[in-house]
Amino acid sequence: MVVVMSESATEENIQKVISKLTEMNFDVHRSTGVNQTVLGAVGDKRGLDPRMLEVLSDVYKVIQITEPYKLASRTFHPEDTVVQVKDVRVGGDQLVMMAGPCSVEGRDEIKETARIVRQAGAKVLRGGAFKPRTSPYSFQGMGEEGLKYLNEAVAENDMVSVSEVMESSQIPLMIEYVDILQVGARNMQNFSLLRDLGKIRKPVLLKRGMSATIEELLMAAEYIMAGGNFDVILCERGIRTFENYTRNTLDISAIPVVKKLSHLPIIADPSHATGKRDKVAPMARASIAAGADGLLVEVHKNPEQALSDGAQSLYPEQFEKLMQELEIIARAVGRAW
Ligand code: PEP
Ligand code: MN
Repeated sequence: MVVVMSESATEENIQKVISKLTEMNFDVHRSTGVNQTVLGAVGDKRGLDPRMLEVLSDVYKVIQITEPYKLASRTFHPEDTVVQVKDVRVGGDQLVMMAGPCSVEGRDEIKETARIVRQAGAKVLRGGAFKPRTSPYSFQGMGEEGLKYLNEAVAENDMVSVSEVMESSQIPLMIEYVDILQVGARNMQNFSLLRDLGKIRKPVLLKRGMSATIEELLMAAEYIMAGGNFDVILCERGIRTFENYTRNTLDISAIPVVKKLSHLPIIADPSHATGKRDKVAPMARASIAAGADGLLVEVHKNPEQALSDGAQSLYPEQFEKLMQELEIIARAVGRAW
């Protein structure tokens, strides 16, 4: 970290900043130029609030050189991380398609959808049993019964499952039934949940909060990793912007940005990003072209009858067509399904 003093800084104020840095266990290297003094601070700055220094008298600027996250950072772990769940590898050469309904709605429904998406090439079956709905009067998910059906569908079709965990008390149950635990956008900064997920040894799919910066997403991943769980898959699912034609705005540029900053795999969710099924395929194609390690897509056998997110769920035929298109794009960027 570098602290740049203002041109008119007094020696007394420079000394105060040096004392503050020393108190914070930094080694301080002072360079005095013709006009300005610059203080180089070497040490562990994790947890440091730079404003503590910025507010000191005569401090012009505080420049952070390393990222505030360490375990999630590529600086400390240059090679890509591959998260393995049974025979599915997320983050390797092979792309991973996670598909299925927004919510598990019944035994036959989830089994039939599993068969359809598996046939088309999806290896991971999605389906929420605990749903974070904006309205308390909307369908809230089937709970444990839904997890059982999801599990049966996965076993019958040789897949792995991903499902959302909404609170810490659900973790023991989720571990029993689910392969990948999803943290939804609304819970990205539920720090006690993230901490508890750090204690388990199952992969976590961490969705970007709808108003979270990329740095906040990586700090959320850091919470899980700080507990010892390094199997974190990030997910760009759209952020809130002033544009309201689509449900959210898919931040495709977050994919290459995250790839540069972090070694963790990142997938995209074009369904929640757009909220409209005719926009899902174009955004899915763009995400793979931008370097995503896979996709999370909502597919429903009969979207008109879906109990949640029907408008953004693909018809089975649309999903099959999308998988074919994605094959060409994957090849063009040196990946395969
Ligand atoms: C979901 O995947 O069904 C979901 C609720 O996603 P998000 O948290 O991104 O809104
Ligand atoms: Mn949904």
